[in-house]
Amino acid sequence: MNILVTGGTGYIGSHTIVELQNKGFDVFIIDNLSNSQIETLDQIEKITGQKPKFTKLDLCNYQELAKYFENNNDFDAVIHFAALKAVGESIQNPAKYYQNNLNSLTNLLDLMSKHNLSNLVFSSSASVYGDVEKFPITEKAPIKKPESPYGDTKIIGEKIIKGVTEVKNNFSAITLRYFNVIGAHDSALIGELPSGIPENLIPFVTQTAIGKRKELKIFGNDYDTPDGTCIRDYIHVVDLAQAHIAALERLIDKNNKNAYEIFNIGTGQGTSVMEIINTFEKISSQKLN
Ligand code: NAD
Repeated sequence: MNILVTGGTGYIGSHTIVELQNKGFDVFIIDNLSNSQIETLDQIEKITGQKPKFTKLDLCNYQELAKYFENNNDFDAVIHFAALKAVGESIQNPAKYYQNNLNSLTNLLDLMSKHNLSNLVFSSSASVYGDVEKFPITEKAPIKKPESPYGDTKIIGEKIIKGVTEVKNNFSAITLRYFNVIGAHDSALIGELPSGIPENLIPFVTQTAIGKRKELKIFGNDYDTPDGTCIRDYIHVVDLAQAHIAALERLIDKNNKNAYEIFNIGTGQGTSVMEIINTFEKISSQKLN
């Protein structure tokens, strides 16, 4: 089976490619390499023995994308990871985020429709729930006012996809709302390699450990938690990658046509920032500044 993966050289995309190839899927990647490296393809090949087919392309470039689909359209499903994801940058430059994340999505949906491609898995985020009072957070929790333009692109993206499934026969989609993604493949050949300043805790931890950053700043020690630092639900990237395979298999299953479904992908367990740091220090036998 042929699967198109947008953003496939990125952090979650690369781990998902490995799981897809391990399961025998034929994988095609589109990525503009704005936040990933071409060398990731060699790393994937070292893990799976196969180099995925790669096309460097900006999904916002409709003409180029249309040309791509003229030559490659025999896909059983599409997994759409490609997006800009830095919350802080999206507040500095909101139009860039709306333009990139929404144009890429609508271009993709338009061309999927023109080529009768019917199965989509979409990367969303648990940030759509905002500040939550009731735990555990289920898929029925209300969507809150977005805390950033980035978060808003996920809320709008979900609405667009739902709208398409409601009017287009034979089009199905699954939205996965990820909690905080963490970790790397066992081989350590792929992992989280952000091009700019990271926005997530773990790259800050690891970059401080190797001396790339002088110190690790913890934002807040007065949360209403046992150690005063913020608690989040962290999901391992390989578990998340496997959730995409489960979603694909569910979509490709003939009984599941014309459906739109949403699933939270987390562990249901919280870990504090201090617990993460203490665990990292213990396992790496290294003190973080
Ligand atoms: P990433 O930045 O590592 O990967 C995204 C990839 O998309 C990059 O390789 C980038 O070059 C590519 N890309 C961006 N815009 C593009 C465009 N216009 N055309 C072609 N390629 C483009 O990010 P990630 O952590 O792997 O996240 C993947 C998806 O999951 C994103 O949609 C992100 O918003 C979502 N998500 C991530 C997290 C997380 O904690 N990492 C949490 C919730 C949701």
